[in-house]
Amino acid sequence: MKPYLKRAWAEVSLPQLRKNLEIVRSLNSSSTDIMAVVKADAYGHGDEHIIRTLHECGIKYFAVSNLDEAIAVRKFCADAEILILGYTPPEYAHETAMYNIIQGVVSMDYAIALSKNTPEPLRCHIKIDTGMGRIGLKYDSCEDCASEILRIMQTDKISVEGIYTHFASADSDSPEDIAYSDAQEKFILDTYDILVKLGIKLPHIHFMNSAATCYRNSPKSTLSRAGIILYGLHPDRKLAVPDGIEPVMELKAVISQVKTVESGTCISYGRTFITEKNMRIATITIGYADGYSRLLSSKGEILVHGKRCRIIGRVCMDQLMIDVSDVPEAESGDIVTLIGRDGDDIITADDIAEICGTIGYEIVCGISKRVPRIYIN
Ligand SMILES: *Cc1c(COP(=O)(O)O)cnc(C)c1O
Repeated sequence: MKPYLKRAWAEVSLPQLRKNLEIVRSLNSSSTDIMAVVKADAYGHGDEHIIRTLHECGIKYFAVSNLDEAIAVRKFCADAEILILGYTPPEYAHETAMYNIIQGVVSMDYAIALSKNTPEPLRCHIKIDTGMGRIGLKYDSCEDCASEILRIMQTDKISVEGIYTHFASADSDSPEDIAYSDAQEKFILDTYDILVKLGIKLPHIHFMNSAATCYRNSPKSTLSRAGIILYGLHPDRKLAVPDGIEPVMELKAVISQVKTVESGTCISYGRTFITEKNMRIATITIGYADGYSRLLSSKGEILVHGKRCRIIGRVCMDQLMIDVSDVPEAESGDIVTLIGRDGDDIITADDIAEICGTIGYEIVCGISKRVPRIYIN
């Protein structure tokens, strides 16, 4: 392990990542391969170690958001199949092709723009917008959609190897949402079948994200684009994930100072918290610049010696204060857990997200660069 400053750090468990991967594998049928989604620095877990570990475990397909991320994957795995889900400026089409990276194509116009910018064939999967409303070919009828796919396939230098779509609400168990996902899935399957009837059997059709992999797994999806579930978080907090899936990342910091203060003492900026009795207060070496949100001011909790301690007053840029009145053994230098397990208790990124009014995805992606990622093997 590389030496690191023991101020605020994230511990990333590679054994837990491997375990989550095995569980996701067991959900999929033999016709479905995993495409590990490693965009945004592997959801904040650090791309290199995550990608290398997944690759060692036999993962061949990776999905990213942009060309920089794709090239990073290529650097770590020469033989990976890498799909860019997001936008690549057309002038980078040649570079994308040179790295043997697959580009998601969202329209005929985009296909033409790409084709004008590469002398070599560019591998592509065509994105269909079946109801997410974000990117992709948008048609009311599968016949029209299939025709447009055929036209894109005839574009010079554009080598189409698959079609894919993205669910808007596969992470919901409400009947309306399930019906909506059913319709999205039917649209891409029917479009694929039309192509097959025309004699075109593309190697890939994929539509499963983590939620779909867990709750509506389909052998017809050649790939499951699993992101959040590999990192052990919930696609939606309200729905259970398979047994054994656990968070891969923990977030830790230390106590820099402990003091006992009298009743009536102001704590932190804005004096939003004033003690109503004598209290023991610990200052913790993490703040919003580390990605620990200021929205947790006077709301969040932190584990100290296995006990929950509440944050008091505002979270500062680099520090925050907690009430350790009930943890007499707490002292300067002690390690505290902001995300993760300590003793019998656990605080997850999903728990923190709930307080902040967001999702676990944003919490882990938001852990900032200055927080070193420490890998546990
Ligand atoms: C991010 C993303 C995924 C992965 O989603 P998870 O919910 O993390 O599994 C899959 N497909 C597309 C198109 C995405 O943008």
